[in-house]
Amino acid sequence: MKNVRIKDLEFKLCYTSDDIQSDIDVLSSKLNHDFKDTKTPILFLSILNGAFMFTADLMKRIQFPCEISFIRLASYEGTSSTGTIREIIGLTDNIEGRTVIILEDIVDTGLTLQKLYEGLTKKNPTQLLIATLLFKPDAYKGSIKVDYIGKSIPNDFIVGYGLDYDGLGRNLPNIYTIVE
Ligand code: 5GP
Repeated sequence: MKNVRIKDLEFKLCYTSDDIQSDIDVLSSKLNHDFKDTKTPILFLSILNGAFMFTADLMKRIQFPCEISFIRLASYEGTSSTGTIREIIGLTDNIEGRTVIILEDIVDTGLTLQKLYEGLTKKNPTQLLIATLLFKPDAYKGSIKVDYIGKSIPNDFIVGYGLDYDGLGRNLPNIYTIVE
């Protein structure tokens, strides 16, 4: 499927499922290397809805003791970041004294991440790290270091593999970019 139409917009294929899986191979190898000696379970904190596919594919490759929890936030309406963050599902785990790795589908402006990072830091984790499948360096306005990046991509709106356009397109196994 080279092009897809979602509502009023046309999208063209930019990352195949195979591309995505090999980026996740590399990312998970780095994590497995960095946490190979860990004895205490690491807490992965996956950001719904977008990160659900990435989370599932990544978790299958993790070889150190870990737990997974989900939190839901939103900062996007339509095709541009609004910068307003709504927390819909809160964190129930006690993260004090723990190593937490945030799992994001995509870091764009970084505003979502910034808010989340500040909120989680107040709960005193020992270490707070970020892993994202996709990163838009030209859009990023944040100061936080993004520790693990699957792929850096241009500053264009994309859909598929968990990412939506007005709720649609999350089911696509490939990633598509907007046709201007
Ligand atoms: P940020 O706060 O970094 O600008 O945006 C973070 C959130 O906006 C992501 O977790 C994702 O849900 C959404 N987002 C950012 N860029 C894109 C994009 O290109 N396509 C889609 N579908 N969502 C995006």
